[in-house]
Amino acid sequence: MDKSTVRILVLDDEPFMLKLLARMLGNLGFSQVTICDSGRAALELLDAPDSWPDLILCDLNMPEMDGVQFVRQLVDRHYGGSLILVSGEDERVLQSVSKLAQAHQITVLGGLNKPVKPESLAELIAQWAPPRQVRPHQATRAYSAEELATAISHGDLVNYYQPKVAVTTGQVVGVETLVRWCHPQDGMVFPDQFIGIAEANGLIDELTRVVLVNAFRQARVWRDAGMALRVAINVSMDNLATLDFADFVTGQAAAAGVAPGEVVLEVTESRLMKDLRSPLETLTRLRLKRFGLSIDDFGTGYSSLAQLRDIPFDELKIDQSFVHGAWADETLRAMYDASLGLANQLGIDIVAEGVEDRHDWNFLRSTRCGFAQGYFIARPMPPAELPSWIEVWQGRVQSLLLAEPSSGERP
Ligand code: C2E
Ligand code: CA
Ligand code: CA
Repeated sequence: MDKSTVRILVLDDEPFMLKLLARMLGNLGFSQVTICDSGRAALELLDAPDSWPDLILCDLNMPEMDGVQFVRQLVDRHYGGSLILVSGEDERVLQSVSKLAQAHQITVLGGLNKPVKPESLAELIAQWAPPRQVRPHQATRAYSAEELATAISHGDLVNYYQPKVAVTTGQVVGVETLVRWCHPQDGMVFPDQFIGIAEANGLIDELTRVVLVNAFRQARVWRDAGMALRVAINVSMDNLATLDFADFVTGQAAAAGVAPGEVVLEVTESRLMKDLRSPLETLTRLRLKRFGLSIDDFGTGYSSLAQLRDIPFDELKIDQSFVHGAWADETLRAMYDASLGLANQLGIDIVAEGVEDRHDWNFLRSTRCGFAQGYFIARPMPPAELPSWIEVWQGRVQSLLLAEPSSGERP
């Protein structure tokens, strides 16, 4: 980063803080620093778009326009730069405002507690990067139900698989099936762009059946090659409302020669279900037949605890929003610990999703979490890549375990 070109705006109602922050920034080598003592003055600056700052340091507690109101104004002006929040408030308040800003695509580098330490400021600013021009990824567009129906019947949906590994040994215990749409024009389309459409247009049964049949076939191929992997499949609550779903799953597993114990069904509730009777009946029948049942995205959604009470799950997946970064965040850590404790007390397996980096992995190793999944371990991949990935991972996990700090030093 060329520090002399980064434009920084500091907003705080206390003249002393303004001077202090400006001096700290100067010492860090930033020369284009503007200071403002009120939100109104800062907005005047923003109304001349040529002088938009790349980074704003904003105090939350200001008499006229407070930090939340100021963030709202930034959103209305489509501010595309980054933000650092400064506050004497506790961590939770900082986080709520961060969430708010992030929900509107403002990059929040983090929060600073007063009194501000120069090291903390330097650390946050080090994360600043010039805004990316265009997403390399294709633009999202809305697909019609007809298009999706055609894709399903033409076999344009393909399964990717993401490994799940045991935290203590690194052993690969299973994979999660994640569907992708190989679109003739748009390339690879991710499920967030079409699962909702399938659910809303009565296509989810067809979709799940295709995914399931392909996954069972693949599970059989892996088993025949001597790879013992449990294969997880995502099922939507809507699937469970049809009473023949349990028979369909049982029949397909038998036809592919896959034992129920080698299959896990991951269930998420994405919207409120009025009538839980048939899902309950379907899931209970599947569990009786020894299929694994996993409660997905635990901690989000409508009624995770009630579901856990009513449905015989044998696995709980802690949602990635409570895992990634939990090592550095007390609130996440508390939620992670609570989910883990709940699963341990109920005697069910636990999978942490969203293990994105070395910190997350080390953190999991310091807790009693059974299994892990995430980009740090592997991204979802086509089935053909799995055997060579396992080979590489086995080497990598050995060096990870060897390089580990002694238990006292873990985060
Ligand atoms: P999910 O079941 O929670 O699956 C995990 C999602 O998180 C996947 O996104 C995966 O690629 C992504 N992921 C994995 N590791 C990491 C990580 O370390 N960090 C982050 N930030 N993300 C990670 P994907 O494949 O885009 O799937 C999105 C969602 O679509 C899934 O969320 C699942 O709810 C749904 N879905 C996928 N396949 C199917 C399916 O066949 N049927 C149904 N009903 N839903 C599906
Ligand atoms: Ca899942
Ligand atoms: Ca999830």
